[in-house]
Amino acid sequence: MGLDVKKIVAGTVGALGSGAAAALAVRTARFVPPKEAPRNPEPVDVDMDSLVSTFSSLIRCKTVSYYDHSLEDEAEFDKLVGMLPELYPHVYEACTLTRFDDRALLYKWPGRTQGNPAVLMAHYDVVPVDEEEWDHDPFCGEVIDGVLWGRGCLDTKATFNGVLFSANALIAQGFVPEHDVYFAFSGCEEVGGPGAKYIADWFAEQGVVPELVLDEGGAVVGDVFPGVTRRCGLIGIAEKGNMFVRLSAKSGGGHASAPKPNSPIAVLAEAVDAIETSPMPIKLSKPVAQMFDTLGRHATPVYRMLFANLDVFMPALDIICRKSGGNLNALMRTTIALTQMKGSAAPNVIPPVAEIVTNVRINPEDTVEDVLDYLEDTIDDPQVKVEMIEGWNPSPVSRTDCEGYERIARAVADTWTDCIVSPYVMVQYSDSRHYCDLSDRVYKFSAYDATSEELATIHGNNERIRLDALRSTIEFYTRLMRQC
Ligand SMILES: [Zn+2]
Repeated sequence: MGLDVKKIVAGTVGALGSGAAAALAVRTARFVPPKEAPRNPEPVDVDMDSLVSTFSSLIRCKTVSYYDHSLEDEAEFDKLVGMLPELYPHVYEACTLTRFDDRALLYKWPGRTQGNPAVLMAHYDVVPVDEEEWDHDPFCGEVIDGVLWGRGCLDTKATFNGVLFSANALIAQGFVPEHDVYFAFSGCEEVGGPGAKYIADWFAEQGVVPELVLDEGGAVVGDVFPGVTRRCGLIGIAEKGNMFVRLSAKSGGGHASAPKPNSPIAVLAEAVDAIETSPMPIKLSKPVAQMFDTLGRHATPVYRMLFANLDVFMPALDIICRKSGGNLNALMRTTIALTQMKGSAAPNVIPPVAEIVTNVRINPEDTVEDVLDYLEDTIDDPQVKVEMIEGWNPSPVSRTDCEGYERIARAVADTWTDCIVSPYVMVQYSDSRHYCDLSDRVYKFSAYDATSEELATIHGNNERIRLDALRSTIEFYTRLMRQC
């Protein structure tokens, strides 16, 4: 991709006077990580045979959600929910279960004292599979060379099981949490079902204000942050907003043998070109600033220089983001992906109307209105109609200066002792967005470690989880629950 970060950084430094360049060097020299206290995590015993057989049972249920609900097999969902009392018997002794519409389940594990409850979320539905493309049966739940295979292993049956398996073991040991712990699960998340919202609404009616809410999000990953080789435990403290926007242009239609100039497709092509050439501006959001300040200190010298002096290097960072695209760019700006196109129904007919659908992911510093204004201004063509199909603003940014965040951060650091724990902004959306009116302590962390290749299997082919990662999920939730 021809991205020479050293050259870009050197270019910026070269344009400065020697005094200013020296000041950058001083700030860079001071931009070092805080001293890490040695950690002595309390060990967690995990019965691996029981873990594998329990988890496999969940994977074998074909709980596939479809936008067309008639394709769903409700019996598979019933099978999974029906198995839970047998798989997690102690949970059913100590907790009460309330069922909500849209397959939502809410367990309450009463604590010793009232108030400050924790809400641990997951969803047990999965996306469809393209069976031909898998190396093994997507619903086999079998262990092959230390890896358990199946749709939902990462998204999110690992954490669904992680919550229930850990609680089950703790209850068996006689553990009672200090405060109430709720387990809030949905069964239609993958198609945007309202189950999680029903539960959040119920909390609001009851006046329950969570001390922390934890749902899927970041994970323990390596090679994601520029210039940092250590693994990072990324805890989402906000998520980007989402919009689907339709761009359309009309014509008089007609036969393709005698086309008039300015066909709707050509009009849209120009609009798209304008969007791609002038993306929305980069803006440093609070979670990303915190992430750069945490992880940047561990980076190689050239990136440390950049992250220590962001005020000077913003234009350089903009160039790097535009050239690299991908994750770094998604963290820094509202992105616009072109996802669907429609022309005429026949190859020899000029389309009376052509359309392009875009999926916009909104930076926490922007809003739905900002995006619509940007699209109108950038396209700047009255022939193009810009309409929002659906959309919502970015979530508010959750606090990191509180016990809720600290508990999660401690459980991450104690479980993956080599990793750097950092806040970040989730670029996808999750069920936990329904909780942001309820609490300013909503976090997004998928409790496992995974390689980029493994993460790419989410919603793709060959989804699987290493048994040691599955074990780490249990260690994490056990450590978290011990602090609840
Ligand atoms: Zn998913």
